[in-house]
This record gives sequence, structure tokens and C-alpha cells, in this order.
Amino acid sequence: MMRTKPNILITGTPGTGKSTLAQELANVTQLKMVNVGQFAKENDLFCGFDDKLECPILDDDQIIDELESEMSEGGVIIDYHSCDFFPERWFDIVFVLRTDNSILYDRLAQRRYNEAKMKNNIECEIFQTILDEARESYKTEIVHELQSDTPNDMEQNVDKIVTWCNQWSTSVGQ
Ligand code: ADP
Ligand code: MN
Repeated sequence: MMRTKPNILITGTPGTGKSTLAQELANVTQLKMVNVGQFAKENDLFCGFDDKLECPILDDDQIIDELESEMSEGGVIIDYHSCDFFPERWFDIVFVLRTDNSILYDRLAQRRYNEAKMKNNIECEIFQTILDEARESYKTEIVHELQSDTPNDMEQNVDKIVTWCNQWSTSVGQ
């Protein structure tokens, strides 16, 4: 079945601005945002704890089951810091947020991450781990990097995505 509204994946290292961007998009479009970490918490969809990254491990299969019908309808913005376990067919476009290391460091410090967690997340950004993961998991032509250092970047990213959504809707005749 063809979706009449697009599904968007917003991914990137923690602190790059995914939830802020997803919320702003949800405010100005008819799209609905799903913060996958929060969704997992609300529905208790965890299956362990990652000691290295110090975060809970999601029960991928259950998350996919729970979101499947909503995703097939379309119009969903998925917000998560990893992207390789979602079905490829779910997304029309993938955005990977990127942030300058020193800016990211300050944002994570505000979250009071400890040294190890801080180091892991900064390294994740330096090695463009999520960008590579996205390029390996989705067609490269639908994967787009977006810089997210400043409020002006945020505003431009919202505009770009809204423009893309309007073009998408036109192209599917909605
Ligand atoms: P994520 O969901 O990727 O972990 P958040 O959206 O929670 O990131 O953003 C982390 C912090 O950084 C928040 O305090 C947010 O206001 C700030 N922030 C995010 N993106 C930007 C940006 N482009 N410019 C300035 N501040 C930003
Ligand atoms: Mn977030």
C-alpha cells in the first residue's frame, strides 16, 4: 500500500538535536513524532542494559511490531540515536544530524554524562558512526547529513525538511 504521508527518520549521536528538530517539525507539519527511547520506556520494550554506552537495550523486534501499523499508514517522524534495526521500507528519507565536537561536548556536559559515557558519545560523532550506519542501512540517495550546531542551523533544517515534505506530497499527488 502506498503511503499518503512520508515517514522520516531523524538519527544522530545523542545531543545533536534530534528531539528538538522532530518536535519543531511536528509543530509545523501534520507529521507525528515518535521518540523511540521514550516509546520503549512507556511500553517497557527493553531486553537488557548496555554497560559500555550506559543505556538500556531495546527489544528491537517488539518495537518494530508495535510501530508497524502506524508506520505503514505514514506521516511519522522517528527519532532515535541508532538506525540499523528499523525496516528499510519504513522510511522515505533519513536525516543524520551532525554537531561540532566542542559544541556537542558542552551539550552532553549539561546532561551530566560521566567521563566514559561522554567519551563514547564524542567518539561516536568523531567517527561518524551513525552516518556510516545510516548509509549501510538505507539507500545512500535518501540519506542526508544536516549540520546542527546553532539555532540558525535548526531553523534551516526545519525549512529544508518542510520543503522536502511538500515536494513529496506533490509527487504522490496529495
Ligand atoms: P538529541 O535528541 O539528539 O539527544 P536534543 O534535541 O535533546 O538532542 O538537544 C540537546 C540539547 O542541544 C538541547 O538543549 C537543545 O536545545 C540543544 N540543541 C540541539 N540542537 C541545537 C542547535 N542546532 N542549536 C542550538 N542548540 C541545539
Ligand atoms: Mn532525544
